[in-house]
Amino acid sequence: MPVFILKKVPYGVAETVHKAIFAHSIMKENISEIKELLTYPKQVAIISHRNPDGDALGSALALKLFLDQKGHMVKVVMPSEYPSGFGYLPEIDNVIISDEEPDIATKAFQDAQIIFCLDFNSLDRIDKMGKVIHETSCTKLLIDHHLDPEPFADYMLTDTDASSTCELVYEFIHMLGEESRIGPRIGDCLLTGIITDTGSFKYNTRPNTYRVSASLKEAGVDDYRLQDKIYNCLQEKQLRLLGHCLANRMELLPEYRTGIIHLTKEDYKTFDIRRGDTEGIVNYMLMMRHIDVAAFITEQPTIVKISLRSKGAISVQEIARNHFNGGGHKNASGGSAYAKLEDILTKFKNVIPRYVKKQA
Ligand code: 5GP
Ligand code: MN
Repeated sequence: MPVFILKKVPYGVAETVHKAIFAHSIMKENISEIKELLTYPKQVAIISHRNPDGDALGSALALKLFLDQKGHMVKVVMPSEYPSGFGYLPEIDNVIISDEEPDIATKAFQDAQIIFCLDFNSLDRIDKMGKVIHETSCTKLLIDHHLDPEPFADYMLTDTDASSTCELVYEFIHMLGEESRIGPRIGDCLLTGIITDTGSFKYNTRPNTYRVSASLKEAGVDDYRLQDKIYNCLQEKQLRLLGHCLANRMELLPEYRTGIIHLTKEDYKTFDIRRGDTEGIVNYMLMMRHIDVAAFITEQPTIVKISLRSKGAISVQEIARNHFNGGGHKNASGGSAYAKLEDILTKFKNVIPRYVKKQA
């Protein structure tokens, strides 16, 4: 399984990056530079994307625990609050939320000698902190598995075939020859990201995903406990909201094998919906054999957020990128728009025929 580390590319030279991504030969050379970089204690800042999920949190905290062991001074920043269900992850209480503490977060990046960007690949995914990071001159490393990386980092470990960034953080530690540092705490973080990004090993897996997971179990991770923490944590209001979505808000376009669920601002009030409460609802529509595309469209205070999922060859990443200012993976993407909910619903219905052949 090839993973790629590549060297500095000038900002904005996307083609060079794409060529360099396939340059296996420079991997060894660069990993020794990174080893050297991490030899002496440094100030390190780690950031992942807005609305962090299990992979964003797991990869950032695993890397922090690993670098802590090596004597570095590590701060973890997330642009926005994380779902409380991930409260079991080690060190999560020390995460800095830049929306809430912008000065502390900014200082963490300004003081850093190394910045790791995990589970996202363009600086606009981290809003204001993107500008702060862009203006720093320290070494930046990107570890990620999304399509179309922006060349803002000095070193990238990017592999779109990887199940998760957590799988790649494991590979990174492996490349440094320091797997022996992975115990149950780092393991809990890494397996959390693998489980959540693969929907419990249902999609995005490859043989290496299972090999890494097996190694984590050998390192002492209790996977049964993790699955219980991750999935058996719904509140009553979330199940009632799911019922509402499926009974009252689901619209099917059978000729385009597509399902849409939308939520209005009023729904947010009625069901007291908070960040993370809607997680996973989009996937239910794909449980129907004749549905291949699922859209979950929600009216937020200032924007409309769109969450897309698909089966097989249909790329929702293209839909998100081309029409909703977003991106992600082929079968799981998202985006947003400053527009009215009704207009986004209409727009989605108008563009879907370009991506799915009409059924007889
Ligand atoms: P979700 O639908 O769970 O919010 O996101 C699914 C996937 O789409 C994630 O991998 C996430 O990184 C990506 N994604 C979600 N929202 C956005 C967005 O606004 N912009 C981009 N570029 N990617 C997004
Ligand atoms: Mn991920």
